[in-house]
Amino acid sequence: MGKSEQLFERAKKVIPGGVNSPVRAFGSVGMTPRFISRAKGSRIFDVDGNEYIDFIGSWGPMILGHGHPLVLDAVTKAAQEGLSYGAATEREVIMAELICEIVPSIEMVRMVNSGTEAVMSAIRAARGFTGKDKIIKFAGCYHGHSDALLVAAGSGLMTQGIPGSAGVPEGCTKDTLTAVYNDLDSVKQLFEANPNEVAAIIVEPVAANMGVVLPEDGFLQGLRRICDENEALLIFDEVITGFRLALDGAQGYYNVKPDLTTFGKIIGGGMPVGAYGGRKEIMEQVAPLGPVYQAGTLSGNPVAMAAGIAQLTVLKNFPQFYKDLNAKSDRFFEEMHNILNSKGIPHCLNHVGSLGSIFFTTEKVRDYASAQTSHTRKFRMYFKHMIEKGIYIAPSQFEAMFISAAHTEADLATTLEAAGDLIV
Ligand SMILES: *Cc1c(COP(=O)(O)O)cnc(C)c1O
Repeated sequence: MGKSEQLFERAKKVIPGGVNSPVRAFGSVGMTPRFISRAKGSRIFDVDGNEYIDFIGSWGPMILGHGHPLVLDAVTKAAQEGLSYGAATEREVIMAELICEIVPSIEMVRMVNSGTEAVMSAIRAARGFTGKDKIIKFAGCYHGHSDALLVAAGSGLMTQGIPGSAGVPEGCTKDTLTAVYNDLDSVKQLFEANPNEVAAIIVEPVAANMGVVLPEDGFLQGLRRICDENEALLIFDEVITGFRLALDGAQGYYNVKPDLTTFGKIIGGGMPVGAYGGRKEIMEQVAPLGPVYQAGTLSGNPVAMAAGIAQLTVLKNFPQFYKDLNAKSDRFFEEMHNILNSKGIPHCLNHVGSLGSIFFTTEKVRDYASAQTSHTRKFRMYFKHMIEKGIYIAPSQFEAMFISAAHTEADLATTLEAAGDLIV
């Protein structure tokens, strides 16, 4: 038995399923998870001494690759000055100024500790501001694991085959309405059936938790228009897309301005961080200024802020960064598509910028239902093949592949070569 297997046996005795987040258990690919010992640049290493080219990147945060020297230096310096004070610090001001400067729709921002918390808090602010209770989400979009949002919620649940979740009372989800991604009519119908009751639409501007599903032309603009017509707020959940597609996220990339935005993943540089922000008049509803309560013992943690500031600063200071990353990623995904075509493997490869997914289906994947036509058995074979070749991709059909600045042309060529030997 290898070290990963031994650790997994130990872990299963004391941690539910042996993991602290379900997809990590490799359940849907029927394998034992690799236990990771360290990572550097584009590489991740397991306790058994294997080296992989990492396309998970901690599920998004590591856009600069692992262990970027400027991020590490900032974290080390901050740690030496104290791990947490539970008091206001200059780093929090710098972080907030940075976010407001980079993302024009954000006039005020509050730091929290995870994407889940950011979304939960943004929805509370939207409800407090509008005085309405209902929210609209899209099937297949994931917005963290808070009660109200665990409805048709993407990868973790799709992968595990859990319908929603046990332990969520009906009362918690009765105000959550579900629409179909890329289908504006489904949204209009919900507004018609619930006149003057909808506080907000929340959407992943590029869905990345049912595999990557792109917004079709006019979809995000249509949501903006419908919100304006109905005095509802538009919330972009940019926990994955923020600082990923472009410096100013999917809202910059697609040029649609939401009222509120949630962030996570990249803004923490690998530390546990989330943030929500938007129009001043909405954010002024948040305590201590306004009646919407929200707090956090470790929010704005100095070490986490240091990591986030360092990462965002690197991204901001290199204007070519996204052009280069996106061009490199486009070439990679197009080449992958050609290879699968040449092998006669039916698939739909959705990609934008440094995010992409291969669905093993003959259908065009544009929503939750079409994503579910994927042959997960084929995905399993693909995953097993790739990990044996030293390519570490997400152990689920319904997650994104993340390309970072640290992936070299040689890394990408090695990955394509591995895909070239694939038999499914
Ligand atoms: C990851 C993710 C979340 C949840 O963030 P956590 O930090 O895992 O709580 C929310 N929304 C989207 C779009 C995500 O990808």
